[in-house]
Amino acid sequence: MRVDIVTIFPEYFGPLDLSLIGKARRNGLLDLAVHDLRTWTHDVHRTVDDTPYGGGPGMVMRPEPWGEALDALAPADAPAPRLVVPTPAGVPFRQALAHELADEPRLLFACGRYEGIDQRVLEHAGTRMPVTEVSLGDYVLFGGEVAVLVILEAVTRLLPGVLGNVGSLEEESHAHGLLEAPVYTKPPTWRGHDVPEILRSGDHGRIARWRRDEALLRTGRRRPDLLAALPAESLDKRDVTL
Ligand code: SAM
Repeated sequence: MRVDIVTIFPEYFGPLDLSLIGKARRNGLLDLAVHDLRTWTHDVHRTVDDTPYGGGPGMVMRPEPWGEALDALAPADAPAPRLVVPTPAGVPFRQALAHELADEPRLLFACGRYEGIDQRVLEHAGTRMPVTEVSLGDYVLFGGEVAVLVILEAVTRLLPGVLGNVGSLEEESHAHGLLEAPVYTKPPTWRGHDVPEILRSGDHGRIARWRRDEALLRTGRRRPDLLAALPAESLDKRDVTL
């Protein structure tokens, strides 16, 4: 997958050299470049923002540098990337969208700052490429950089070859609309707390049953909205009664 990120703070993306994302880059599974939006400014102050039309607090990102950046990174004569724009006004970022993005050959991220990017940038981009405005959640960050780090981490771990054990993807929270059951490792007793006996029984059938029931109970307690959204056919009659 090819990923381009446009930002006024390229330094934010230093962590993308680390851990499994760094490894995916070194292995050629993720081809990633970070670009400074100010490259596409032409004044001595390298200005990217201005006051909002209609008045109000804060500044808005001007369309010209963004237009030039998108022209350079998504030229008309090449296959168009999918443009992903973090914004608290976007669609909620969920695992299903992470899967959708992981299937794209090219992603282009536009990191907003201040009060956001002039809306005409997105309108114009939408005539040339798919545009998705994505929200991390119902709160407001300073800028889109942290949101892009989150989205990229969720997407990269879904790319074939990135995770050593793809089984992890099958059993984790949100894979099938449930939260994962609690997990334990050695020692069997720690500070008076025991690992549930069943997990040490070696009985794989009972362990699978226990994990499924714990996942259902935990989801019911913590995220009743997820439980309510489960299709009836995904529950079976051996499931714990909630
Ligand atoms: N004025 C905007 C609004 O009320 O919708 C908020 C702008 S915010 C201060 C600046 C930038 O941070 C946004 O353009 C976006 O890139 C990023 N951002 C803030 N909160 C976000 C969220 N919940 N999800 C994704 N991106 C967010």
